[in-house]
Amino acid sequence: MKKTIIMVVLLAALILAGCSQTTNTQIEDKEMKISVVTTLFPLYEFAREVGGDKVDVNLLLPPGSEPHSFEPKPSDIKIIAEADAFIYIGEMMEPWAHDILEGSNNEELQVIDASSLVTLLESDHHDEHHDDHEDEEHDEEHEEDDEHHDEHTVEEECLEHEGTWVEEHEECEGISEEVCDELGGEFNECGSACRNDPSTAICTLQCVLVCSFEEHEEEHHDDHEDGEHEDEHEEDDHHHGEHDPHIWLDLSNDQEIVDEIVRVFSLLDSENSKVYEENAEAYKAKLAALDQRYKTELSECEQDEFIVGGHNFFSYIEERYEIEGISAIENLEPNTEPTPKRIKEITDIAEEHGIKYILTEVLISKQMAEAIASEAGAEVLTFNPAPNLPKEDFDKGVTFISVMEDNLETLKKALECE
Ligand SMILES: [Zn+2]
Repeated sequence: MKKTIIMVVLLAALILAGCSQTTNTQIEDKEMKISVVTTLFPLYEFAREVGGDKVDVNLLLPPGSEPHSFEPKPSDIKIIAEADAFIYIGEMMEPWAHDILEGSNNEELQVIDASSLVTLLESDHHDEHHDDHEDEEHDEEHEEDDEHHDEHTVEEECLEHEGTWVEEHEECEGISEEVCDELGGEFNECGSACRNDPSTAICTLQCVLVCSFEEHEEEHHDDHEDGEHEDEHEEDDHHHGEHDPHIWLDLSNDQEIVDEIVRVFSLLDSENSKVYEENAEAYKAKLAALDQRYKTELSECEQDEFIVGGHNFFSYIEERYEIEGISAIENLEPNTEPTPKRIKEITDIAEEHGIKYILTEVLISKQMAEAIASEAGAEVLTFNPAPNLPKEDFDKGVTFISVMEDNLETLKKALECE
């Protein structure tokens, strides 16, 4: 009803008094709306679906950007400080949120921590290779690593034994197993090395004697990269071995989040609580229908596992839809390079199981998935874990629901469900 009045006033203003009054009317209209800040794209969609034209929703993560490395700008902090509601995934996805909320003088702010509403799953809970990486989480062990590194002998020893030192992966190639043992490395008779062919810039896999010192990988970055990378490193500590933040990939979780949004919007604007409830029911019906399709259509497939040439985002998909994923990057940091050893393992699994498709993620480099696919004679399929959309999709108005529909088709193809 208010909308009708506003439309009439707007029309009258346009006809009778020109532009200045139109502006005033729009400001009034805006002031009546609940101001909401969301971090990731699914939350943005949920808030807009529930709130309709009664809310003004802000998406912090710029379209096309990768959420794990996101840091808010001062202007983002200001937007949160002035908002009525702030909706985020939780500390494992937005470790920066805690300090901002603590430091904010906005006592009225309603905060939805989505991770508090659902059952959290451990990240890579199916992954038997996880242990070596999880250790890196502990600060004490970081310090120990640093001490080891001060010796600076591994590289020198490698060269002394006529090996080839591969800085990028902390590996010595071409030395014997005996020497590798002496140096405390892990020997692999046919490790695979991922090399960029300068003519095509494509990564090709080669079989080489590899002596790997991958446990030194983390502090290697600290020593050789600039300060910019240290921030990322700090962020790593929040991700490793903790809960998988990708809770929205279980479509039943999304319905819980939508319910909480209704509760908070109704608290802020009780007059329209009926509207929020109705909007939510309509949207939840879509989520529930898609959830059911995932369950049914992924229930009978030729393959047991899908392979991702990216990071480990799929614990909730595995748990809810009873399928299994394997990822090249064993932690939750999408910009990490997988080790050649890991690539070889994955390629072997793909070949053994006759896996025809390797998934790659929309917002990260396809290079790794392509390398594994070409080695295993497989094709690359694109999956969007949907924390965010590429800019062109966002501009086109692509929805979370439609992304998840596309993802279902991708999974069905990869698992050979049809
Ligand atoms: Zn992710």
